[in-house]
Amino acid sequence: MNTVFSGSTIDRAAHLRDDSAALTQMKLSKTAKAVVLWRGRILVDIAAGKTICWLPLDAKVLNQATSDAIFLGLQDGNARFAFDISSWEPTGWQSDQTDKIAAENHVGHPDVAAASYFVDLRSMMADLTPADVSVAATAKGLIEWHAAHGFCANCGVATNVSKSGWQRHCPSCGRQHFPRTDPVVIMLITHGNDVLLGRSYDWPTGMYSLLAGFMEPGETIAEAVRREVFEEAAIKVGAVDYLADQPWPFPSSLMIGCKGTALTKDITIDPIELESAIWVSKDQVLASMDGQNPALRPARKGSIARFLLDGWLADTLS
Ligand SMILES: [Zn+2]
Repeated sequence: MNTVFSGSTIDRAAHLRDDSAALTQMKLSKTAKAVVLWRGRILVDIAAGKTICWLPLDAKVLNQATSDAIFLGLQDGNARFAFDISSWEPTGWQSDQTDKIAAENHVGHPDVAAASYFVDLRSMMADLTPADVSVAATAKGLIEWHAAHGFCANCGVATNVSKSGWQRHCPSCGRQHFPRTDPVVIMLITHGNDVLLGRSYDWPTGMYSLLAGFMEPGETIAEAVRREVFEEAAIKVGAVDYLADQPWPFPSSLMIGCKGTALTKDITIDPIELESAIWVSKDQVLASMDGQNPALRPARKGSIARFLLDGWLADTLS
């Protein structure tokens, strides 16, 4: 089952990550291109049908990168890189302004084309091709891992980037550190014709989605689904089946989409985790997808939650 994040057209070519001679050569090539991110947002050309901007490596904006290029791999034999320019401060911005801009707002840059903007992937993922979303998720996941993992978890010393951005190495104790991926279960729990939806306190008004939670050490996927649903809503779940998964680089999750059959129906929420949880019928979910129910806003297009709900409504989940 394909979700929006499964569409990579890049050969990661891991054997080249440590090949400094080949990397130097590739960076000199006219066919080498790079994506650029700024504070978690990726540069997208809005005018050209919403596509990721692949820039030549001598593009002026890349001079603002504060770390080496990450080697993403080869696309049709041509090298592809990712750069981070998060240290760039837009003229006149307040120091905390980045955190306050909505996902739907785009940010331009004086050194890029007028139709290109740094965009939040969540607001754009249903418009980009699966190949572009895959590139964006990879680059964002790696860049944000570096930003948050600069020190050795074993001895506390500052670590160095290695393997063209795919590892960090501790110069003191020798420990190698790898980009992390945190598995999260997200589940379509049904009882007859109803689906279980919940909302967190900080979500936009009316937004409800499938329950989700981080897996814990020692759990299988099905065990994590049953534990999370019981903890958050006190619903007991019987059969659980895996359906699809989606890299979700906010900052480093892998969403594992499942369906489960509820054995009970009385909801008791965990008020620390959830503001509300409700059973919603297919007709009610359909009305919300059509925008006819302001009290119930559906999950974002392009998210695995939306994908699973759409499949449930269309009766295409196997
Ligand atoms: Zn160390």
